[in-house]
Amino acid sequence: MRTRVDRPRIIGTLKERLMLHLIAFEVIKRLEELHPELEIDSEALAHVRLGFLREPCRKLGVCSYADQRPSRPATEFTDRHKTHRILLSRVSMYDDLPDAVFTIHHEFLHAILGSDEGHGRTFQEHEDRINPYIKQISTLVLETTSSFQSIH
Ligand SMILES: [Zn+2]
Repeated sequence: MRTRVDRPRIIGTLKERLMLHLIAFEVIKRLEELHPELEIDSEALAHVRLGFLREPCRKLGVCSYADQRPSRPATEFTDRHKTHRILLSRVSMYDDLPDAVFTIHHEFLHAILGSDEGHGRTFQEHEDRINPYIKQISTLVLETTSSFQSIH
């Protein structure tokens, strides 16, 4: 059964997608250093599909896990990152960029820890480790993408 969805999928402008991917880039490259106790496959995580939530959205982000049935064709590296995709609220990048950075890290942590962990103790232990870097990442994303304002 299919759920009826009246809202269109959000692709976002080039600039918005650049912002999303830059946030993810800056988060992923810090993961191993931030979480030395966890097994982190950064090479595979760099291949996780990224996108935006349909609008209006209540959530800030979502991480969905890959369908593991062997009959389903997977994308490259899915066998390693086991993630279907990570979606971010597009408006959150404008409303509160630091919060969007926190959310992307939150969702990648879900990808790393798996669905059984949920928001469990290990998750909570690791979630805030991105905090000291949020401002730096937000500033970099804004500075890098500011010249793209005319393209949309
Ligand atoms: Zn969560």
